[in-house]
Amino acid sequence: MIPFTYSRAEDVPAAIRLACAPQAKYLGGGTNLVDLMREGIEGPHALVDVTGLSRAIEHRPDGSVLIGAGAKNTAVAMDEVIRTRFPVLARAILAGASGQIRNMATVGGNLLQRTRCTYFYDEAARCNKRQPGSGCDALEGFNRIHAVLGASPACVATHPSDMCVALAALGAIVHLEGEGGARSLSLTDFHRLPGGRPDIETELRPGELVTAVELPALPFAARSTYRKVRDRASYAFALVSVAAALDLDGDGTVKDVRLAFGGLAHKPWRALAAEKALRGGPANEKAFRAAAEAELAGAAPLRDNGFKIELAKRTAAATLSQLAGGLQ
Ligand SMILES: Cc1cc2nc3c(=O)[nH]c(=O)nc-3n(C[C@H](O)[C@H](O)[C@H](O)COP(=O)(O)OP(=O)(O)OC[C@H]3O[C@@H](n4cnc5c(N)ncnc54)[C@H](O)[C@@H]3O)c2cc1C
Repeated sequence: MIPFTYSRAEDVPAAIRLACAPQAKYLGGGTNLVDLMREGIEGPHALVDVTGLSRAIEHRPDGSVLIGAGAKNTAVAMDEVIRTRFPVLARAILAGASGQIRNMATVGGNLLQRTRCTYFYDEAARCNKRQPGSGCDALEGFNRIHAVLGASPACVATHPSDMCVALAALGAIVHLEGEGGARSLSLTDFHRLPGGRPDIETELRPGELVTAVELPALPFAARSTYRKVRDRASYAFALVSVAAALDLDGDGTVKDVRLAFGGLAHKPWRALAAEKALRGGPANEKAFRAAAEAELAGAAPLRDNGFKIELAKRTAAATLSQLAGGLQ
């Protein structure tokens, strides 16, 4: 491991100041970053611990919720308002990692966690994300877990987070602060597709800190859920996952819907084409399946991951049917 300094930020301005040091990185729970440092994939010279910054979960009168970036994943999943008004988020978090890891992991760190592509972790393999311009061994390698949407010839890795899939469906907003001041981005704009620079994974500017994630008010999210398909029942990343919320009219038509996929792309994939296809139409399995087909029309399988396309369609149709039937 490369030697590094450790400092604990007392407040946001101090964190931003400390992060100006060369090769500095923010440290959340360390459940991803420290592993990557041990593996020699990341080598920051300075760690700025931001776990002492806002952990608050603020329930606002307008129905929105502001979650501090330092809030632990467990605290978010256990929050009564999130469990009842945004169950998709609580379920997505609880579908990830283990109790011990969720107790350590923060919201900010979850957003910034890095891919689980095996070639990214294998220093003997070529990886444009780890070493820009070196190539991608996943393209012709064993690529069962890789992306079918939005990939590029430079990178076919997927984003590993469950929480972020729920946040994408909920239209969450990421609040940022850096030397240039404060700004916010929608979660779906925060993560990037790989293009020619898969090493640049988000729109975060150098030294910028994630300060909070906001859930806008969305009353129909009370009818929402998360379904994760994986190789093992626990402690495994998603092959495919679906976050969905459904609002039905009295006559059973779809008034509004939110849908996002995990495990399919370099970023959480908000299924806007499927949502559009569903609004104003019938809430039945045939329509759900057709909407999923519309979303996945542009999917491009690699040698080993074609099964994900059918799996994603079935998982979306089953999840929406479950919600339409009144189950969560
Ligand atoms: C064995 C194992 C299994 C797992 N399974 C799952 C799973 O099934 N689903 C899932 O979603 N996740 C899973 N995880 C990942 C886990 O959720 C992440 O490791 C965790 O969310 C990262 O949070 P952290 O606070 O520990 O981040 P850290 O490891 O501290 O940091 C991660 C990155 O975020 C940056 N960062 C941290 N906070 C901020 C901030 N406020 N602003 C800007 N940058 C910041 C750091 O610089 C670093 O680059 C698993 C992890 C392990 C180890």
